[in-house]
Amino acid sequence: MRSRSGPVSDVVVVGGGAAGLMAAIFAAQNHARVTVLEGSRACGLKILISGGGRCNLLPTASDMSDFFTSGSRNVLRRLFRTWTLEEITEFFERDLEIPLIRDEAQAKVFPKSESARVVRDRLVAAAREAGAEIHEGHRVTGLERHEGGFVVRGRRDERPHDVEASVLILASGGQSLPKTGSDGAGFALAQGLGHSLIERHPALVPLCSTDPAFHELAGVSTRVRWQALAGEKVLEERERELLFTHRGYSGPAILDASHWVVRDGATLRVAWGGLSEAEWQRHFTAESRKRIDVLLSEVFPRRLAELLLERAGLKGRMRATQLHPGQWRRLMPLLTAFELPVDGNEGYRKAEVTGGGVPLSEVNPSTLESRQTPDLFLCGEIFDVIGRIGGFNFLWAWITGRLAGESAAARSKAPG
Ligand SMILES: Cc1cc2nc3c(=O)[nH]c(=O)nc-3n(C[C@H](O)[C@H](O)[C@H](O)COP(=O)(O)OP(=O)(O)OC[C@H]3O[C@@H](n4cnc5c(N)ncnc54)[C@H](O)[C@@H]3O)c2cc1C
Repeated sequence: MRSRSGPVSDVVVVGGGAAGLMAAIFAAQNHARVTVLEGSRACGLKILISGGGRCNLLPTASDMSDFFTSGSRNVLRRLFRTWTLEEITEFFERDLEIPLIRDEAQAKVFPKSESARVVRDRLVAAAREAGAEIHEGHRVTGLERHEGGFVVRGRRDERPHDVEASVLILASGGQSLPKTGSDGAGFALAQGLGHSLIERHPALVPLCSTDPAFHELAGVSTRVRWQALAGEKVLEERERELLFTHRGYSGPAILDASHWVVRDGATLRVAWGGLSEAEWQRHFTAESRKRIDVLLSEVFPRRLAELLLERAGLKGRMRATQLHPGQWRRLMPLLTAFELPVDGNEGYRKAEVTGGGVPLSEVNPSTLESRQTPDLFLCGEIFDVIGRIGGFNFLWAWITGRLAGESAAARSKAPG
C-alpha cells in the first residue's frame, strides 16, 4: 500500500462515535493496523451529551419490538445474537473497567460514575491501547474505490489530506444534532460507493403544537398511555411519561411515538395518567364526595386537570356525584382518548437519532460487509435501524461496531 499524503492503514474507520470507536477496538484487537478519522475536534461528542450527561449506554432488557427498520427483522435478530446484553455488560465492566448500575425502574443501564465522559474516554483509550491511531479534526470528504483498496479524501487541520486503506469501515452516524459532527455527510459517502438510502427523517424528536393552551403547561409532566393511529388502526401503543414544552411535547412517550407521527403521519391519542374509562369510573365512585378537580389532580398535575375540565365545559368544584351522564360522556374522551394536536416536529436540531438510511439488505448480515462495494463495512446509525429511548441506540452501535471491526480485521488479513 502507498500513502499519497497521510498514514497508511489496513483498516480506516470513518467516524469516531460510539460505533466507530467500538469497531476500532475490535479491529485493532484482531491485529489490524487501524486508523480512525474523526471529523470533529474530538471523538464521541454525542456520547458526552447522551442520557443528560449520564450516558444510558444499554437497556436492562431488549427484544425486537424495541427497534424499527423497514428491513428484515430476521436480519436484526441475527445481528443481536452476535453479542448479548450480558456479554456487552461484561465487556464494559471487565475490559473497559467501567462499573455499571442498573436502574430497574427505568429499565436503563448507566455507568456507576454517572459520567458520560468516563464512557467516551475509556472507549478512546481502549482503541489506542489496542493499537489504533486516532486522528481528530480529520474530515472525510470523498471515498474512492481502487483496485486493492480505497483512497479516503479529506481535510485535516483545514488542509487536504488523503489516506489509503485496504479496508474501510463507514461509521459516520446519522444527521441528528449536526453540531456534534454527525451532519449526514456520511450518507452521501455511502451513496458514492453504490448504496441506496431509505428516506430519512428526524426520529426520537420532540413534537410541536401551535395550541397556546399547551405551551402554558411547559414543564408539566405526566404518565400517559399513548396510541399512534393510522385512521382507527393502532400502529403502536405504550405507557410512558409525557413532558409539555414551550413549543409542544417531549419526554419518553413522545420521543418513542414521534417516529410514527413524523414518518407515517400518524395521529396520537393519549389516556392521561394511563387510566381507562373503567378505572376512572372506579376512582370517581370510590371518592364520589370529592370535587372533580381534586379527583383529576390525584392522577395527574393540577394545571392539566384545569385545562381538561375547561375543555369539557365543567366547573372543577362540582362533586363527582353531581356529574350527569351527558357531562360524563363529554369528559371521558378528553381523559382517555385525547387527540394531541401536533403541527410539526423540532427537526434534526433536537432529534436524538435519524430514521431511514442504508438498507440492511445492502450488507452481508454475517459480517456487515457492503454487497455494493467489497471491503467496505458499515455500522451504527447510518443504517435504516433505530431503537426506542432507553439505551437501545447505543446497543445497536456497540453490536454493529464490534461486528464490523472484527469482520474488517479478518478481511484485511485475508489473502487477495
Ligand atoms: C442528545 C442525545 C442524547 C442521546 N442519548 C442517548 C442515550 O442515553 N442512550 C442511547 O442509547 N442513545 C442515545 N442517543 C443516540 C446515540 O447517541 C446514537 O444513536 C449513537 O451515538 C450513534 O452512534 P454512531 O457511532 O453510529 O454515530 P455518532 O455517535 O453520531 O458518531 C458518528 C461520528 O462520525 C463522525 N463523522 C461524521 N461524518 C464524518 C466525516 N465525513 N468525516 C469524519 N468523521 C465524520 C462524527 O463527527 C461522529 O463523531 C442520544 C442522542 C442524542 C442526540
